[in-house]
Order: sequence, then structure tokens, then C-alpha cells
Amino acid sequence: MTATTPVLAAREIDFTYGRGEDFRVEGWSASFPRGAVTAMTGPSGCGKSTRLYLLSLMLRIRCGVIELDGRRVDDLPDAARAQLRAQRFGFVFQDAALDASRSVIDNILEATLYRGQRAGDHRARALELLDALEVAVPPGRKPGQVSGGQGQRIATCRALLGRPDIILADEPTGNLDPASAAVVLGALRRHADDGGAVVVVTHDPGVAAWADHRLELDAHR
Ligand code: ADP
Ligand code: MG
Repeated sequence: MTATTPVLAAREIDFTYGRGEDFRVEGWSASFPRGAVTAMTGPSGCGKSTRLYLLSLMLRIRCGVIELDGRRVDDLPDAARAQLRAQRFGFVFQDAALDASRSVIDNILEATLYRGQRAGDHRARALELLDALEVAVPPGRKPGQVSGGQGQRIATCRALLGRPDIILADEPTGNLDPASAAVVLGALRRHADDGGAVVVVTHDPGVAAWADHRLELDAHR
């Protein structure tokens, strides 16, 4: 690994869902440096979310290589991939994907379970994040009782909690008014300033312009 090795890279990766008649990722390469925000844009259905799932090792590629710190990781066994996912990645799903049965604060603390940490040790930071992202809901509330925009910010708190090397955020400002969007983008920017690699899928040209790097996908690839 050298100073210029990207923390995350995809090299010539191929992927299809099932037999993949209508959608495929073919020979896609991209790299993501530390300390920067990369915006991924492209029309609906072009595979933005799918690429985030591939990069975070949730789906298995068919060909090519995914590297973390210059080391190949796509071919590791499932348990090792899950470990890396828990240790190295924070993911903000497009629909927030909060666990409806657990409180807001327990959702934010969820990643500590997969990292083998004690949730109690991270509770203060979770509350700080809720405050910093201006979520303004009682931490004991259930996700069914928060708005879409609040849910999205709670999901962002969850991704930020463990200060992961890489944050992949799927349209994290999609449900937000401009003031709340600015709060979320500010938090993602601080994460990059602290040395993280941040990837944001967005349809918002303003967000794309704000990012340090832009990765534009076209309709069929
Ligand atoms: P985007 O995020 O750019 O809107 P997606 O990555 O969600 O696009 O989807 C890319 C394509 O893959 C779409 O044609 C979608 O219908 C298809 N797709 C997404 N998820 C699945 C799945 N689980 N099984 C089969 N096809 C899927
Ligand atoms: Mg999507």
C-alpha cells in the first residue's frame, strides 16, 4: 500500500442479478480515495444502488476485483466479508432500512453489536450525532413514529457512529428540505475531512457539484 492507494477500488467488475437479462454491470472500474466525497449520479435503474451493494461486499461480483487498501477482498468467505463490512463500512440505505422493532437509539447503536463492542460505550456519541444531525426525536421512539426525513438522518447517524473508513450513502438527502440536507452534507464532509472516503448517490446537481469527485453513470451500464 502506498500513500496514493485508494481505500476502496473496483477493478473491471461484472455483476448480474440472476440470469441478468435486463441489467448488468460490465467491466466497471472506480476508485475512492480517503479524505474526499465522491458523488455517483445517473438515471434511475442504471445501477447506482447495486454498485454500492457491490462495493460494500453485500453482493458477490461475477468477475473482477474489489480491493480495500489495495488488498483483494471480494473473494473472501462470507464471514470475513461480513466482518469487513461491519468494521470498515457505514451504509445509508435509500429507504433508511431502520429496524422497526428497536428504538431510534438502538438502531444507531446496532453496528456496535456486529463489531463486538458494548453499545453502552457508544451511547453518548449516538446522542451527540442525533443532536448534530438535528433529528429532534426522543431517542426511545420507534422508527414507525418518525418522518421519512428523520429516518434518513437516523440512518446517517447509524452509518457515522463507528467512524468507518468508508461511508456509502444512497440518496441520503433525497427526502430532506434544503436546511436538513445541508446538515447531513456537513456531517458527511466532516467525515471526509477526518480522512474517511464518502460516496454519495444523488440526483441533486447541487450535491454533485459540492462533491470533490463526480462519477456519472449512463442509462445502460
Ligand atoms: P438505481 O439505484 O440506479 O436506480 P438499482 O441499482 O436499484 O438502480 O437497479 C439497477 C437495475 O437492477 C434495475 O433495472 C433494477 O430493476 C434491477 N434490480 C435491482 N435489484 C434487483 C434484484 N434484487 N433482483 C433483480 N433485479 C434487480
Ligand atoms: Mg437506487
